Amino acid sequence: MTSVASPLAPDWLSVPVDANELSPVVWPSSAHRDKHGVLSIGGVLATDLAGQYGTPLYVVDEEHLRSRARDTLAAFSSEFERIGTRAKVYYAGKAFLSTAVARWVSDEGLGVDVCTGGELAVALAAGVDASRIGMHGNNKSIAEIERAVAAGVGTIVIDSEIEIDRVADAAARLGRVQSVRLRVNSGVHAHTHDFLATAHEDQKFGFPLARAEAAVRTIRARPSLAFLGLHCHIGSQIFGADGFAESASRLLAVHSRLLEAGPVSELNLGGGFGIAYTTADDPTPIAELAARIADIVEAECRALDIPLPVVAFEPGRSIVGGAGVTLYSVGTIKDVDVTLPGETSDATAARRYVSVDGGMSDNARPALYGADYSVRIAGRASDADAALVRIAGKHCESGDIVVYADYLPADVAPGDLLAVPATGAYCWALASNYNLVGRPPVVAVADGEATLLIRGETEHDLLARDTGVASTEPGAS
Ligand code: PLP
Repeated sequence: MTSVASPLAPDWLSVPVDANELSPVVWPSSAHRDKHGVLSIGGVLATDLAGQYGTPLYVVDEEHLRSRARDTLAAFSSEFERIGTRAKVYYAGKAFLSTAVARWVSDEGLGVDVCTGGELAVALAAGVDASRIGMHGNNKSIAEIERAVAAGVGTIVIDSEIEIDRVADAAARLGRVQSVRLRVNSGVHAHTHDFLATAHEDQKFGFPLARAEAAVRTIRARPSLAFLGLHCHIGSQIFGADGFAESASRLLAVHSRLLEAGPVSELNLGGGFGIAYTTADDPTPIAELAARIADIVEAECRALDIPLPVVAFEPGRSIVGGAGVTLYSVGTIKDVDVTLPGETSDATAARRYVSVDGGMSDNARPALYGADYSVRIAGRASDADAALVRIAGKHCESGDIVVYADYLPADVAPGDLLAVPATGAYCWALASNYNLVGRPPVVAVADGEATLLIRGETEHDLLARDTGVASTEPGAS
């Protein structure tokens, strides 16, 4: 291939030597091309998956997800044992939760973190031991709190003064003592490479650190509550450990003052560990993060002369993100002349828009956050030169983009099967019925077998709740 760079390509994107390559940075560990060039994940060909389940289709590599869960628990466990304490890891179900995923992470030794009654219902339906479920959220309804207490969830994260009473009253009514954490904002907010540290953060979650001691006094005064410790989550898609280190040291200063009036056995530092969405991303390996965070916790506790707490984490994206791949079919292709940035209207380059049969209803992240992804042709390999493409969805919205920029073989054509990696987190979870498009199915692949985890929505599902339709049963007249 003798491909040339497009002047429309972003700075971080270089022309690939081989536009068929599946970089292990963004693809699940089992992904490879078979001898005919067809993408295989978990031992199943993408063409077979598309043939059986249609497109768009979410594909989850079970072993990739399980091994991320295992490696994360092993990394935090060994680093915190090294400094003389323990770590707990909860999988943050908000990233993607189905009963199968809840069972897999439980099998691997993780707890499950939920933030609504719906997520709690899925975790319980999966048979997750309630004592290993944590529930957070800034506006849990009284019914959600009662259900969580009645089910025996291990911890509830209290987010406001009103919730102290709500959780305490629910536990008292049910004759239980409920273990609780107090959500605080440490003033550290992190995103990808940088973090921002302020004294007063303007956000809806939790208590400002300065109010934590008063809130814990109120909690301790309620006999139906048992205070476990502080809880904090500084943001998502974070690279590096500096934000966690700053947040941990701010929390431990308050934690040590809380110890003067009673036990504080745990500290929950939340989730937020970043993953690679494109080959330009370079997330910190989980073992390195675990070591850095354990070191800072040990140093701070020694400086404060306090016992080491059990330290809990709640990763979601870093467990499931890289395990997911979305398959799409190409519908239309067009080249659009675009004026080059900073140039007159005479200086143009063609941008190739490749439209697929999904879009912002199955992956809202590009439209919501400008998130970048990468793409490959899944159904074949090609010797054609690489051409810059933009993958667009089918929705009636100009911001409906799936992949802003990547290089594909220039012979990409209608009918081609495309695959977008790193779509395991916050894609199905954020999916919608925008433009009355049904949400796609989710299929797990492992050892050459595909298993349907969640069926796709049909037109019948889309009409089922519309009371103006007499009957939408298939075959009804
Ligand atoms: N815990 C809490 C409280 C969160 O709000 C989130 C996500 O926003 C998570 C855990 C999981 O974050 P991530 O998926 O980035 O690891």
